[in-house]
Amino acid sequence: MTFRDSSYADFVNHPRYGRCPRFTGLNPVENLSRGIYFGWHCRAEERISDTAIVAHADRQPSPTVPVTHYFDLKRKCRECGRNFIFFAEEQRHWYETLQFYLGADCVRCIDCRVAERETKRLRAHYEAFLQQPILSDHDALELADTAMLLIERGAFGDRCVERVRSLLNAIPAESQVRRFATFRDVDARSKARLRRSG
Ligand SMILES: [Zn+2]
Repeated sequence: MTFRDSSYADFVNHPRYGRCPRFTGLNPVENLSRGIYFGWHCRAEERISDTAIVAHADRQPSPTVPVTHYFDLKRKCRECGRNFIFFAEEQRHWYETLQFYLGADCVRCIDCRVAERETKRLRAHYEAFLQQPILSDHDALELADTAMLLIERGAFGDRCVERVRSLLNAIPAESQVRRFATFRDVDARSKARLRRSG
Protein backbone atom coordinates (compact mmCIF):
# COMPACT_ATOMS: atom_id res chain seq x y z
CA MET A 1 0.00 0.00 0.00
CA THR A 2 1.42 3.39 -0.95
CA PHE A 3 1.32 6.44 1.30
CA ARG A 4 -1.47 7.89 -0.83
CA ASP A 5 -3.55 4.71 -0.51
CA SER A 6 -3.24 4.47 3.29
CA SER A 7 -5.52 7.49 3.73
CA TYR A 8 -8.32 5.37 2.25
CA ALA A 9 -7.91 2.44 4.65
CA ASP A 10 -11.23 3.19 6.40
CA PHE A 11 -13.18 3.66 3.17
CA VAL A 12 -15.93 1.19 2.30
CA ASN A 13 -14.63 -1.52 -0.01
CA HIS A 14 -16.50 -1.85 -3.29
CA PRO A 15 -16.44 -5.45 -4.56
CA ARG A 16 -15.82 -4.31 -8.12
CA TYR A 17 -13.69 -1.16 -7.71
CA GLY A 18 -12.01 -1.57 -4.32
CA ARG A 19 -11.64 1.20 -1.73
CA CYS A 20 -8.78 3.34 -3.11
CA PRO A 21 -8.88 5.87 -5.95
CA ARG A 22 -7.80 4.78 -9.41
CA PHE A 23 -5.21 7.23 -10.61
CA THR A 24 -5.21 7.86 -14.35
CA GLY A 25 -3.01 10.96 -14.37
CA LEU A 26 -5.79 12.86 -16.14
CA ASN A 27 -6.79 16.08 -14.37
CA PRO A 28 -8.75 18.42 -16.65
CA VAL A 29 -10.06 21.82 -15.55
CA GLU A 30 -13.77 22.48 -15.97
CA ASN A 31 -14.40 25.10 -18.65
CA LEU A 32 -17.92 25.39 -20.03
CA SER A 33 -16.96 27.76 -22.84
CA ARG A 34 -14.55 25.09 -24.06
CA GLY A 35 -17.17 22.39 -23.58
CA ILE A 36 -15.44 20.73 -20.59
CA TYR A 37 -18.14 19.86 -18.07
CA PHE A 38 -18.14 17.42 -15.12
CA GLY A 39 -21.81 17.51 -14.09
CA TRP A 40 -23.50 19.14 -11.11
CA HIS A 41 -22.73 16.38 -8.60
CA CYS A 42 -18.98 16.42 -9.31
CA ARG A 43 -18.28 18.94 -6.55
CA ALA A 44 -14.76 20.39 -6.44
CA GLU A 45 -14.21 19.53 -2.74
CA GLU A 46 -15.03 15.85 -3.36
CA ARG A 47 -13.02 15.46 -6.53
CA ILE A 48 -9.84 13.37 -6.31
CA SER A 49 -7.09 14.82 -8.51
CA ASP A 50 -5.62 12.76 -11.34
CA THR A 51 -8.44 10.22 -11.44
CA ALA A 52 -10.43 11.54 -14.43
CA ILE A 53 -11.59 9.35 -17.28
CA VAL A 54 -13.10 10.54 -20.55
CA ALA A 55 -16.87 10.25 -20.87
CA HIS A 56 -18.74 9.29 -24.04
CA ALA A 57 -21.37 11.98 -24.45
CA ASP A 58 -23.12 10.06 -27.25
CA ARG A 59 -23.85 7.17 -24.83
CA GLN A 60 -25.39 9.35 -22.12
CA PRO A 61 -29.18 9.49 -22.03
CA SER A 62 -29.90 12.72 -24.00
CA PRO A 63 -28.47 15.21 -21.49
CA THR A 64 -29.05 18.95 -21.72
CA VAL A 65 -25.29 19.41 -21.21
CA PRO A 66 -23.22 16.26 -21.77
CA VAL A 67 -20.59 15.37 -19.18
CA THR A 68 -17.10 15.18 -20.66
CA HIS A 69 -15.17 13.55 -17.77
CA TYR A 70 -15.83 11.51 -14.65
CA PHE A 71 -13.67 11.77 -11.52
CA ASP A 72 -13.40 9.53 -8.48
CA LEU A 73 -15.42 11.39 -5.84
CA LYS A 74 -15.02 11.21 -2.05
CA ARG A 75 -18.34 10.70 -0.36
CA LYS A 76 -19.80 10.13 3.11
CA CYS A 77 -22.62 7.62 3.20
CA ARG A 78 -25.95 9.20 4.14
CA GLU A 79 -26.99 5.96 5.83
CA CYS A 80 -24.00 4.65 7.82
CA GLY A 81 -21.75 7.73 7.80
CA ARG A 82 -18.70 5.88 6.47
CA ASN A 83 -16.51 7.29 3.71
CA PHE A 84 -16.60 5.76 0.27
CA ILE A 85 -15.63 6.58 -3.29
CA PHE A 86 -18.13 7.05 -6.08
CA PHE A 87 -15.75 5.79 -8.74
CA ALA A 88 -15.31 7.37 -12.16
CA GLU A 89 -15.69 3.91 -13.74
CA GLU A 90 -18.84 3.36 -11.70
CA GLN A 91 -20.30 6.64 -13.00
CA ARG A 92 -19.54 5.63 -16.55
CA HIS A 93 -21.35 2.34 -15.89
CA TRP A 94 -24.35 4.15 -14.36
CA TYR A 95 -24.80 6.82 -17.02
CA GLU A 96 -23.60 5.12 -20.19
CA THR A 97 -24.35 1.41 -19.73
CA LEU A 98 -27.32 1.47 -17.36
CA GLN A 99 -28.59 4.73 -18.89
CA PHE A 100 -29.27 6.41 -15.55
CA TYR A 101 -30.36 10.03 -15.74
CA LEU A 102 -27.22 12.21 -15.42
CA GLY A 103 -28.64 13.95 -12.36
CA ALA A 104 -28.85 10.64 -10.47
CA ASP A 105 -26.37 10.89 -7.61
CA CYS A 106 -24.85 8.24 -5.36
CA VAL A 107 -25.35 9.16 -1.70
CA ARG A 108 -25.02 5.75 -0.03
CA CYS A 109 -22.14 3.29 0.09
CA ILE A 110 -22.29 -0.05 -1.69
CA ASP A 111 -22.95 -1.99 1.56
CA CYS A 112 -25.99 0.15 2.37
CA ARG A 113 -27.26 -0.09 -1.22
CA VAL A 114 -26.99 -3.88 -1.17
CA ALA A 115 -28.70 -4.02 2.25
CA GLU A 116 -31.49 -1.82 0.93
CA ARG A 117 -32.03 -4.12 -2.06
CA GLU A 118 -32.19 -7.13 0.28
CA THR A 119 -34.72 -5.32 2.50
CA LYS A 120 -36.83 -4.55 -0.59
CA ARG A 121 -36.66 -8.20 -1.62
CA LEU A 122 -37.73 -9.38 1.85
CA ARG A 123 -40.57 -6.87 1.93
CA ALA A 124 -41.82 -8.02 -1.50
CA HIS A 125 -41.60 -11.62 -0.27
CA TYR A 126 -43.57 -10.71 2.86
CA GLU A 127 -46.24 -8.83 0.90
CA ALA A 128 -46.64 -11.69 -1.60
CA PHE A 129 -47.32 -14.04 1.32
CA LEU A 130 -49.97 -11.68 2.68
CA GLN A 131 -51.87 -11.94 -0.63
CA GLN A 132 -52.41 -15.66 -0.13
CA PRO A 133 -55.94 -16.48 1.05
CA ILE A 134 -54.84 -19.49 3.07
CA LEU A 135 -51.50 -19.88 4.79
CA SER A 136 -50.11 -23.31 5.43
CA ASP A 137 -48.30 -23.84 8.73
CA HIS A 138 -45.05 -23.78 6.84
CA ASP A 139 -46.03 -20.46 5.18
CA ALA A 140 -46.90 -18.97 8.57
CA LEU A 141 -43.48 -19.96 9.91
CA GLU A 142 -41.75 -18.44 6.88
CA LEU A 143 -43.87 -15.28 7.08
CA ALA A 144 -42.97 -14.90 10.76
CA ASP A 145 -39.31 -15.45 9.92
CA THR A 146 -39.39 -12.83 7.13
CA ALA A 147 -41.14 -10.33 9.41
CA MET A 148 -38.50 -10.96 12.07
CA LEU A 149 -35.69 -10.23 9.57
CA LEU A 150 -37.45 -7.00 8.56
CA ILE A 151 -37.77 -5.97 12.21
CA GLU A 152 -34.05 -6.66 12.73
CA ARG A 153 -33.25 -4.47 9.71
CA GLY A 154 -35.37 -1.64 11.09
CA ALA A 155 -37.76 -1.84 8.14
CA PHE A 156 -40.64 -2.89 10.40
CA GLY A 157 -41.45 -1.28 13.73
CA ASP A 158 -41.58 -3.09 17.07
CA ARG A 159 -45.34 -3.39 16.82
CA CYS A 160 -44.71 -6.13 14.25
CA VAL A 161 -43.21 -8.33 16.97
CA GLU A 162 -46.78 -8.93 18.16
CA ARG A 163 -47.73 -9.94 14.63
CA VAL A 164 -44.82 -12.42 14.51
CA ARG A 165 -45.98 -13.86 17.83
CA SER A 166 -49.56 -14.23 16.68
CA LEU A 167 -48.43 -15.90 13.45
CA LEU A 168 -46.40 -18.41 15.42
CA ASN A 169 -49.19 -18.95 17.94
CA ALA A 170 -51.62 -19.65 15.09
CA ILE A 171 -49.61 -22.75 14.16
CA PRO A 172 -51.43 -25.63 15.88
CA ALA A 173 -49.51 -27.41 18.60
CA GLU A 174 -49.90 -30.75 16.79
CA SER A 175 -48.49 -29.35 13.50
CA GLN A 176 -45.35 -30.97 12.07
CA VAL A 177 -43.93 -27.48 11.53
CA ARG A 178 -44.27 -26.61 15.19
CA ARG A 179 -42.86 -29.92 16.29
CA PHE A 180 -39.93 -29.45 13.93
CA ALA A 181 -39.36 -25.92 15.24
CA THR A 182 -39.52 -27.18 18.82
CA PHE A 183 -37.10 -30.01 18.14
CA ARG A 184 -34.72 -27.63 16.38
CA ASP A 185 -34.88 -25.22 19.30
CA VAL A 186 -34.33 -27.93 21.88
CA ASP A 187 -31.47 -29.32 19.85
CA ALA A 188 -29.77 -25.90 19.63
CA ARG A 189 -30.22 -25.34 23.37
CA SER A 190 -28.81 -28.68 24.31
CA LYS A 191 -25.78 -28.09 22.08
CA ALA A 192 -25.22 -24.72 23.77
CA ARG A 193 -25.43 -26.41 27.16
CA LEU A 194 -22.92 -29.07 26.06
CA ARG A 195 -20.51 -26.35 24.96
CA ARG A 196 -20.85 -24.57 28.28
CA SER A 197 -20.16 -27.70 30.32
CA GLY A 198 -17.39 -28.87 27.94
ZN1 LIG B 1 -23.30 3.08 4.06
